[in-house]
This record gives sequence, structure tokens and C-alpha cells, in this order.
Amino acid sequence: MKIGIIGGGPSGLSLARLLADRPGISVTVLEANARLGGNSRTAKLNGTLVEFGTATVGLNSWTLQRWMRQEGIDLIPLAEQNFDGRPLIDYVKSGSGPALALQVPYYLFERYRLMVALSLPNKPHWAVEEAAQPIQAWLQRRKLHKIELFMHRYLTGLGYGFVNQTSTVQALRWVDAGLLATGLLNQEQIPAQGWATFWTRLSRRFHVRLASQVSHIARDGRQCVVTTDAGDRHVFDQIVCAIPIDDFARMTLPTANERAVADSIAWQGIATTLIAATDWFADAWVSSFSSDLLPGATPGRMLSARLEGHDRNIGGFFYMASQTIGGYEVEDLQDMLHGEVRRHGGTIARILETKTFKHFPRYAPDAIRDGLLTRMEQMQGESRTWYTGAAFSHDAVPSILRFNHRLARTIAPRRFLRRRTAEDWDTSAWPATTPG
Ligand SMILES: Cc1cc2nc3c(=O)[nH]c(=O)nc-3n(C[C@H](O)[C@H](O)[C@H](O)COP(=O)(O)OP(=O)(O)OC[C@H]3O[C@@H](n4cnc5c(N)ncnc54)[C@H](O)[C@@H]3O)c2cc1C
Repeated sequence: MKIGIIGGGPSGLSLARLLADRPGISVTVLEANARLGGNSRTAKLNGTLVEFGTATVGLNSWTLQRWMRQEGIDLIPLAEQNFDGRPLIDYVKSGSGPALALQVPYYLFERYRLMVALSLPNKPHWAVEEAAQPIQAWLQRRKLHKIELFMHRYLTGLGYGFVNQTSTVQALRWVDAGLLATGLLNQEQIPAQGWATFWTRLSRRFHVRLASQVSHIARDGRQCVVTTDAGDRHVFDQIVCAIPIDDFARMTLPTANERAVADSIAWQGIATTLIAATDWFADAWVSSFSSDLLPGATPGRMLSARLEGHDRNIGGFFYMASQTIGGYEVEDLQDMLHGEVRRHGGTIARILETKTFKHFPRYAPDAIRDGLLTRMEQMQGESRTWYTGAAFSHDAVPSILRFNHRLARTIAPRRFLRRRTAEDWDTSAWPATTPG
């Protein structure tokens, strides 16, 4: 069976890697850019690798760690991070309620209870209602105030919205036991050779066509005909949408489900700026501040700054600072960044470059109540099309990988492949996937 994956970012590449292991499958990834990796954007500065996009690897993805080892990528542990000028764990412990050692297992139990209910084909009404409410309300009802403080750093601080806005289902998908351990025990690591090298090495296991911007998809016959803007035509038995669903829906005659899902999400957007600064922190690898991350903080405030290296010429250090975009132009964000860094004790000597990203597709709460989660499961395999990426799991590589493991099993179950040939392929027989 020929599968075409549209999009060579982390979701398309990791799914291709998983499918390429399965017998009887031929996978081709079509990527618009001349490079792979999507929002993984490694650059080189005076011999030092810097990550504008995807940066760290935590304890929440063993598969990712294993693949990196297999591809010869070394993971470097990062030093402590500062939150309000002290270790993150001190900030988290300052939250009210029972001890952290009690709040963590209680949170994980409640999270498990809700996620199991949400994985059922007929989701109970109470579970859908809890899924749609803001994570802050869900946590406060359970007196999990310390976990709420953890989410200031690991939800809002990573561009996944304020705790009073982000839906419970999206927060719970991301903040699992592995992420709690990563953050509380300072277990983040960074790939020494850079994310770009990792994705390039991983892609040696399947076909990739770079500079292939897909502009039209026809799915009316027994096959999918994919056309690029250069006029190349590719024919596949099945396709995978590994690009934002709203972009996908514009290049084909969308199904009712595709249109509904595209209308139910709003991208938040994030900007990262590489700066050289003097008189700033050098004792931690990341610094962030609660005043910028509490509900109500204005867009353009600094989500975090990460120490990237030293610059002899200016006698200072390089930092990667991130901001929510909030409708601002790059020049405005850069202007604001001067004030942000000054407010936190440093001075920007030079702004080197800003990159903006389509980041974190937030679900509309009413859409969740109207069955968005069920719709996203049921549409898998419809019109010979499968869906992965940030909107279907969570906008982080570990969540995408977990989701893709299940998706690969659904697209090509091993038993199924032994019984049937490619010609007998019948999508109606395939089970629905569960949420990520
Ligand atoms: C600033 C920042 C920091 C982050 N840090 C981390 C981190 O530390 N750890 C972590 O796990 N995650 C991190 N993430 C999240 C992670 O980068 C994303 O979850 C991941 O990149 C999403 O992968 P994706 O493949 O779904 O989408 P994308 O990365 O957006 O990739 C989509 C790909 O599809 C291609 N494409 C689009 N349209 C077409 C078309 N018409 N035809 C062909 N190709 C097309 C694009 O060029 C792109 O390559 C970060 C994200 C950002 C923005």
C-alpha cells in the first residue's frame, strides 16, 4: 500500500518512521520546504547550535530518546532553571493545599480517571464537561494548587495558554507523570547535534520529497491524487494530513468533519528571538517569571529566556527569548523585548533574529461540548485520509509520538496485513483511534 504523508515536520516524520517498519507499506513524505523538521528550527551561530523552535527532550518520551540514540544523537543534560529567581520546585511548593508528594499522585489519579472516560467511544457527559472547562477551575476544585503553579511554567510558559483559558483536556494530555518528573527533577536534555540533524538522519528510513508544496488533493476515486505547486502529481492509496488541518481543508474539497475541526481551533502563535545580552543570568539555563505567566498578562511579555552560549565580542551571553505574538508585528515584539529584559535585570546588546510560529491550536470549549473529541476520532480513515499533528494530540513531540504509535497500529495493524493484500484495503473495517 502506498501512503503519502503531507508535511515533513515532527508528526509526519515520526509517523513515517513507524509505518516504514511495517510490512507491505511504502511511505513518501512530501515537504514544502527545502529542509525537514517543521517547527524544529536549528541554526548555527559562531559555531554554536541554537534552537529557535523545538528545543528539549524530557522523561516523557522514551521512544524519542531511543530514536536519538539509534541515530547517533547525544543528549546533553541541562542545568537547573530559575523561576522568579529560585528553583522551580520552590515556586511549585509555595502553592497552597496538601504537600506536593500528595498532590502529584492525586492529580495523576484524577487525570487517569478523566482520560479513560474520554477514550470511550461514547464519552460520558460529565467527562466532556470536565474536558471543556479551563484547567484552572478543574485543578482548583480538587485543591491542586501546587500543580496549578507547575502549569504556569510548563503550560503557559511554553505557549500553551493561560490556566484560566486552556481546556482541561489539552492541559491533561500534556502534563503527565513524565512531564512532572522532568520539570520537578530538572531532567530536561538537549540534542547536542541539533534537532535538524536528528530529523534528517531519521528520514533515511523512508522516501522524502523536499520542496514539494502540496497545493491540491483529489480524493474522489479509489486513490488520492496529490498535486504540488510545481505541478508534480503523486498518486497514493491513503494519505496522512501532517500539516495544520485548516491549511489542509483549503487544498481539497473538505469533508464535513474536516471543516468542523478546522473551525473549532484557533492557533495561538509564538515568537522566539535570539538576543545577545549583558549583565543577565548565567547561573541557570532557563529563567522565567510568574508575573509574565499569570492569567491576564499581556501578549508580548516574555514567556522565558534560555541561555544558549557566550559571545566574546560583546562580553555577554546569547539567549533565546520567547513571547506570545498576540497580533503584534515582529518589530513591535522586538521593541517590547528590550523592556522585558530590562525589567528582569539584563540589557539587550543586540537582537539577532526573530522567528514566528503557528503554535498551539486551542480548542473552542463549546466545540468540545458539541463532540469535537469524538469527531476527531471518527474522522480517522474517512476519505482515505488520516490525521496527526498538534491539533490531534498536543503541540509537543512526545505527545505526537504517543499519538502516532496508536495511529500507525490503526493504519497498518500487523495481523490485518498478514490476512489481506493491498488491493483488499477497506478503511471501513478499521477501528477508531483514541485521543492522545
Ligand atoms: C518555539 C517552539 C518551541 C518548542 N519547543 C519544544 C520542545 O522543547 N519540545 C517539544 O517536544 N516540542 C516543542 N515544540 C513543539 C514542536 O515543535 C511541535 O509540536 C511540532 O513541531 C509539531 O509538529 P508537526 O509536524 O505537527 O507540525 P510542524 O512542525 O508545523 O510541521 C509541519 C510541516 O509541514 C510542512 N507543510 C506545511 N504545509 C505544507 C504543504 N502544503 N505541503 C507540504 N508540506 C507542508 C511544513 O513546512 C512543516 O515542515 C516547540 C514549538 C515551538 C514553536
